[in-house]
Parts: sequence; C-alpha cells; structure tokens
Amino acid sequence: MSANGLDVVELARELVRLNTVDGHGERQALAFLAETLEEAGFSCSFDGYDAEDADKVSLIARLCPEDDKPSMFFGGHIDTVPLGDALWRYDPLEGRIEGGRLYGRGSCDMKAGVAAFVCASLACVPRLRGRDLVLHIYGGEEFGCRGSLHAARSAALFGSPGAAVIAEPTSNHPLFGHKGVLWLAFETFGRTAHGSMPEQGDNALARMLPAACRLLDASPRASHPLMGSCTMALTSMRAGLNINSIPDKAVLTVDMRTVPGQDHAGLRDSLATLAGDGVSVKVMQDLEAVWTDPGHSWCRQARSLLASLFGVEPEIACARYFTDAAAARSLFPDLPILIMGPGDPGMAHKTDEFCALNDMRAATSVYEALIRAFYL
Ligand SMILES: [Zn+2]
Repeated sequence: MSANGLDVVELARELVRLNTVDGHGERQALAFLAETLEEAGFSCSFDGYDAEDADKVSLIARLCPEDDKPSMFFGGHIDTVPLGDALWRYDPLEGRIEGGRLYGRGSCDMKAGVAAFVCASLACVPRLRGRDLVLHIYGGEEFGCRGSLHAARSAALFGSPGAAVIAEPTSNHPLFGHKGVLWLAFETFGRTAHGSMPEQGDNALARMLPAACRLLDASPRASHPLMGSCTMALTSMRAGLNINSIPDKAVLTVDMRTVPGQDHAGLRDSLATLAGDGVSVKVMQDLEAVWTDPGHSWCRQARSLLASLFGVEPEIACARYFTDAAAARSLFPDLPILIMGPGDPGMAHKTDEFCALNDMRAATSVYEALIRAFYL
C-alpha cells in the first residue's frame, strides 16, 4: 500500500475487470479513475473524441491548472484489443493474480502502466501544493490513437508540460522515440459491367495493377542510427464484388514507417506521382516520428534515476511501432518524452496476456522518483 492507500496491483486489477475491449466501456473506466483522482484533489475533464458515441472519451486530470510553471505529464490508454478466438487459461476480465502475475486483457497493454502513474501521482500529491501535474488517459488508442490525437488539437487542455512519460509496456526500459507512420490508400475507379462483356465496363483493377507494381518497386531511403531504415509495405488490395462482374473500384493500402526528418507530405506527393494519373490517394494515418535527445537535461536526470533504482545504466533505444507519444509531440515540439512502462511488450495483444506484479511496483517507484525529482 502506498501512503494514500491505493495499491498499484489492486488498481490495475480493478481496471482489468472494467471491460474496455475494443473501446467499449471507456467512459465507465475513466469515470472510475476520475472519481479516485478528484478525491485526491485533481480537477478532471472529459474530451469526447467521437461525435456519434458519447462513450468515447479521454480523461484529462490536472492537479493545479492555475499553475503556469512547467509540469510533468503522464499519458496512457484505457482501451484494449479484442480477446481473440483462442481459449484463455483464466477469464480475461477476471483480473486473476497467480504466480506473481496479473492476468487479463489489458493487464500489460496498458492498464498496469495507467495504474502505476495514477498511484505514483496520488502518492506525490501532498508534496505538490500549488503545482500542476497532468494525467491524460484516453480511449481509442488501438484504433489509431484517436483519443490522444483528438485532445491534441488543444494545447490549452494540458497547460505547459516540461517532461512527459507515455506508460506503454517496455519492461520499464526507457525508449527515446519511435518511428512515424504514414498509411495511404490508393484508389482507382471504373465502371461495372457483366464479366462476359468487359468492353462495356471500365476495369478499376486493371488500372490499379500497374500502379501497384510501380509502388512495389519504390523504396524511400532514409534511416536513423537507432530506429533503422524507413520501411514501406503494400499491405492490402481489394477490388471487385464477384467473379463475373467488372470491378468499378480498387483500393490498395500502403504502410510506411518513417524516421525523424522525413517529410510526410513530400512522401505522399511523390508516391501519388509514381502511382500515376487516374489513381487517387487518401491519407489514413499520418504521425511523424518521435525522438527525444537522450542528452536533454531531464533525460539525463531520468537516466541516472533509473540507473540508481535498477543498478544498470539504461540502454538508449527506440521502438519500431508508434504510440500516443506522437500526439504529445505534435502539440509540444520540444517536450522531452520517454516511453516507459511496466509489462513485457511481447505480451501485448496476446492470449493469456499478463503483467508481472514486480514490474508494476517498480514502475510506480520510478514514476514517483521522477515526479519528486522534477518538482524539486
Ligand atoms: Zn498500448
């Protein structure tokens, strides 16, 4: 138990029991957290990110919105991916604790991380009189960071953060950035006709295939010493309704993972030119790479804190996948951001997902130490 009586394992377990599979029930889970945070003195507000569904919200909790000095910011998502078809060893929504692990959907990705920064923040409240501390807990992450990106339209919601932690599972190793993402959908249109009379139609698939071959050969060149090379993959192609009709629409999707410094608008334009006339392009996701200089003064402080808590100097590493750090970065271009949280990242989205209890406790201690050091 921490000083305020809230135990990270119990809180994470409670969150696992609140079903947020596929973004359902986000509001109930966030209302439960808001109640806990308000009791401790946080001001909470909700940001709806889907005009058609009042349950799709993110929670912004601030300890002292009037404070204009730099604050610490913690971010994490409350939604989880579906359970999958395979049978789980334990009920994925029961919050079973067994062998030093909390099992269940979202235990690792990332209810343990949310529980850890909420508990650490609550434990620090008595020391932070008159100072702001910002927690952003959002839904819609598994649908392309919808919750965090929506709130990222308004910097005023967050005051003036001076350092940020996104608590995605990294086994408590700090990541200093990740690749960006650019998802494009190329489309061709034609005119349908009976398959026996193709001359009466205009075949959208026939228009798409040469463009697809040109895109297959494209390889944008850029790399980063820690993130590696930019990658590009053709990931799906859909055309036609049945075997005996001429398709009037074809869609080809492309997944690019970019490195810092790549200009997404320029990439999109050059691929659109390569695809050729008659092929249109839609941007489905566009988040630039996130990178924080490990030599930044706050990162140096965080690294030495981690070295003293874990007994080893943390390795400087990045992720290949993207996270909500991109939303925070889009609002605050100079904000130092670490992606660091409890749980083995290899467990995310898996059947029998779990998070080690020791990982959650260690994350809570790390976050508490970071908060204390930041406001010293
Ligand atoms: Zn996650």
